[in-house]
Amino acid sequence: MWDDGEMKPSTRAVITSWLLALAPLVLVPLVFVAVLRSGARPIPFPRVEVPDEPFVRDHCTWSCANHGCRHVAALPPILTDDTGLFGWAVRELHKSGDAISPEDSFRGYRAINLAIFCAAWPAVMFALWAGTIRARSRRHGLAGVRS
Ligand SMILES: [Zn+2]
Repeated sequence: MWDDGEMKPSTRAVITSWLLALAPLVLVPLVFVAVLRSGARPIPFPRVEVPDEPFVRDHCTWSCANHGCRHVAALPPILTDDTGLFGWAVRELHKSGDAISPEDSFRGYRAINLAIFCAAWPAVMFALWAGTIRARSRRHGLAGVRS
């Protein structure tokens, strides 16, 4: 028993919790790179420029990103259309990019994209994951039980 009356967690349970908490930091980059490097034409990593790929009839390529997509969207227009969520998000990213880099709006757009999708969004997801692991640890009588 600990001083506060809780059962002392086993070393194995503490290690398991730490491994679960840290797993996304290792697994997500590995899966990301594995997906990039798979397929008939593996994507170079790291990529240093926006690719100029040809249009492919049955799936989106960088041609769609660079010149507009002509494919039929699998999701409803309220999500994928230029007047829907996708269009709103792109416009807001451009506005935010203009705000932080008025002399070069595309530089600002790129910076905002990296800040949101490579830092903020993963940080929020990791915080949710860590919260889940912490709740699990509390349920199983591991560290941080005082609350
Ligand atoms: Zn497309």
